[in-house]
Amino acid sequence: MSKETEFYNYITSLPEETLTQVKGKPLEVLKLIDEYPQSFMNIGPYKGKHIVAKIKEKAPKTMIELGGYLGYSAVLFASEIADDPEAKYYSFELNPEFAKIANYVIGLAGLSDKVEIIVGKASYNLPAFRKRLFSEKKHYTALDFIFIDHWKDMYVPDLRVLESLNLIAPGTLLVADNIITPGAPQYVAYVNFSPDEKKLYNETTANPEGKEFIGRWNILYSTKTIEVVNPKNNHKDAIEVTKCVDYFSG
Ligand code: SAM
Repeated sequence: MSKETEFYNYITSLPEETLTQVKGKPLEVLKLIDEYPQSFMNIGPYKGKHIVAKIKEKAPKTMIELGGYLGYSAVLFASEIADDPEAKYYSFELNPEFAKIANYVIGLAGLSDKVEIIVGKASYNLPAFRKRLFSEKKHYTALDFIFIDHWKDMYVPDLRVLESLNLIAPGTLLVADNIITPGAPQYVAYVNFSPDEKKLYNETTANPEGKEFIGRWNILYSTKTIEVVNPKNNHKDAIEVTKCVDYFSG
């Protein structure tokens, strides 16, 4: 049995008294994950708190994440928009088993009406998602916040999908995890490219997620790597915090 399924069995069979104590309390639910004897590949409280600070500053309305796993980041970040009736968090998750566990965790945290899990490969689901946003809002909407935390070799291809779908515009905030461990050097290079470098890269590197998703060379980013040390094990990692600042018109 996978450790994720074992966790699901554990959390769904907690005594009624414990469940009542944590129900509707996102941070208490996350504590159950943090204190579980096995560790999981989630953002965790230390890197998480830097991202929460950015979310507080921005007050985003439309948020997505690529890679939902067991719902930890969705609960931590969506709890920041819990009181905003216009705000919503969409979590793209490949694995239906993980999505089932995440749905339970999100429900326990009282965030089912704020978070929607979209199951399947993100690049496959994003075009329909964009159409849906447009029809629901009746106007073009770029994303306010994007958390990129799926497989590292997918960061650049899926960023190019998001750019090609015009889901990134000035004001969009992107945060990518695991910049040091295991590392995402291609992603860091991509968000640091000059327009000319990006144009060359996009024209000469086929996107494995679809040749139509070439990317947009004229999107300008301002980006910063923020290192975070986990005080419990001295493990160092970093997040890349990137803001779309303008379109290049030169
Ligand atoms: N963001 C989560 C958190 O902090 O709680 C952790 C995400 S975990 C590091 C990576 C997840 O990405 C896995 O659950 C995996 O199934 C999912 N994944 C990998 N490739 C994907 C893709 N192309 N589309 C959507 N999800 C993907």
